[in-house]
Amino acid sequence: MSNSAYVQLVNLSKQFGKVRALAGLNVDIAEGELVALLGPSGCGKTTALRALAGLQDLDAGQIIVDGKDITFMAPNKRNMGMVFQAYSLFPHMTARENVEYGLRMKAHRTASAERSKRSGELLELVGLSTHANHYPHQMSGGQQQRVALARALAIQPKVLLLDEPLSALDAKVRTQLREEIRRIQLEVGTTTVFVTHDQEEALGVADRVGVMKQGILEQIATPSELYERPQSAFVAEFVGLTNPISANVSAGNAEVLGVRVPVVKGSIESGKGLALIRPEWFHVEASSSTNGKIFAVSFLGSTCRLTIDLTDGTRIRAQVPSSGASNLGIGASVNVTLKSLPVFVKGA
Ligand code: ATP
Repeated sequence: MSNSAYVQLVNLSKQFGKVRALAGLNVDIAEGELVALLGPSGCGKTTALRALAGLQDLDAGQIIVDGKDITFMAPNKRNMGMVFQAYSLFPHMTARENVEYGLRMKAHRTASAERSKRSGELLELVGLSTHANHYPHQMSGGQQQRVALARALAIQPKVLLLDEPLSALDAKVRTQLREEIRRIQLEVGTTTVFVTHDQEEALGVADRVGVMKQGILEQIATPSELYERPQSAFVAEFVGLTNPISANVSAGNAEVLGVRVPVVKGSIESGKGLALIRPEWFHVEASSSTNGKIFAVSFLGSTCRLTIDLTDGTRIRAQVPSSGASNLGIGASVNVTLKSLPVFVKGA
């Protein structure tokens, strides 16, 4: 039996009173894929995840798993594992007992020897073999989430659902556990949906990131595609930093800071607009013919962040390699141009 599934969310709609939590959400998730659903608070991420798990009814739409419509199937029949934000372990059970709990439930009844073998393997998978007999209060938040992950995987789910699983942890543990989740997910191969409002987390963990806005999917793409070729101003501005720079668009190209670059899909087709430029897409050099002056410099190790006031009054944030930045000090006159990369241009 395969451990993963092809998941289709088709036109999911849900209204809570006056709030439209889902407004026709469509997402296809390939077998074994990890998709992160990213978006601002209230955009419907959790509602979508809960609907997939069967914990939230819908006004309209279908949930299809491996070609089968499971929209009205009971949650415990869906063969999905779920990890919540935090504090979801049973406090009176040890790590091992928590992991075995899933295997005791009716739909997944497993013999005791097999249960114990499997819980041992799962605790090893999440790096907690030595904590099998610890109770939740004897473990850190990160360790508890590892147990929750092992418990969710115990039933060998076809789909793993993670609802902001790292949000209660501190920054360092978050990054570590994010990497662990990805390693484990690749090892077990389970189709996974990871809900987060943290863009770094989404870009760092997922095969593809779906950006949601007001109950629909704005764009779904690989992390690099999303960053380099956003198809709406919302996606460009939500994922990473952007600098709006005036641009003139014609025939699929934009003239920005004197440089002609291609425009990406979704941009305005012609006329004046604002190109959304990533800090590292600027080319900055000290020059006699200048269009800007350095206002501030922050050394970040291998790169420097420069705040530059352009002569037209625009203030930009550029990021350049430190190796070439020795003559880019505060007050230096500079010429700012663009690397030849496609840009998104929104209406001014
Ligand atoms: P967050 O990151 O803050 O958790 P989210 O993107 O996960 O946000 P949802 O929790 O899906 O958003 O909520 C979407 C909208 O639906 C919000 O406006 C929320 O207040 C509303 N909502 C969600 N569940 C309910 C409910 N049971 N009753 C009423 N309104 C709800």
